[in-house]
Amino acid sequence: MPIPAPQPSAQPALSVTDRLVKANAEYAAAFTDPGMDARPVLKVAVVACMDARLDLHAALGLELGDCHTIRNAGGVVTDDIIRSLTISQRALGTRSVVLIHHTGCGLLNLTEDFRHELEAEVGQRPSWAVEAFKDLDQDVRQSMERVRTSPFLPHRDDVRGFVFDVHTGLLREIDPRH
Ligand SMILES: [Zn+2]
Repeated sequence: MPIPAPQPSAQPALSVTDRLVKANAEYAAAFTDPGMDARPVLKVAVVACMDARLDLHAALGLELGDCHTIRNAGGVVTDDIIRSLTISQRALGTRSVVLIHHTGCGLLNLTEDFRHELEAEVGQRPSWAVEAFKDLDQDVRQSMERVRTSPFLPHRDDVRGFVFDVHTGLLREIDPRH
């Protein structure tokens, strides 16, 4: 029996964004408004790397409405992270800060050369630092220190830092003192 030729698809292939929008329609169809306000229930802000393998809610047992999640490349405490933390604490009532870096981070393979190469290529120097690092633990310590020394943050006594292992799913706490 001859194999039938594939039929031309009636619909054009969905882009990834189309796929997300379609998933959202299904999500919204099953959604019920939990009636929460904007203040996180657990009064905690989690600052983490944007890495796709790090599912913060699942890894930390968090539910909708529990926490602020503030993410960027590396989970590095930049001025913009301080901006978000300041709003989180001063306007939305969070008290604790959890910092999460992870094994196999893309920033471990970069150096500030990335910035210089970028400048050479596009003819403009970025205003931001790459914040690349070689030592994960030390970078977590530096991030903790940046939070603990920020004059904008009223709550700096409960700041803890961790490295998430993308192979085991386990957090390892970093001692800030050494
Ligand atoms: Zn990362």
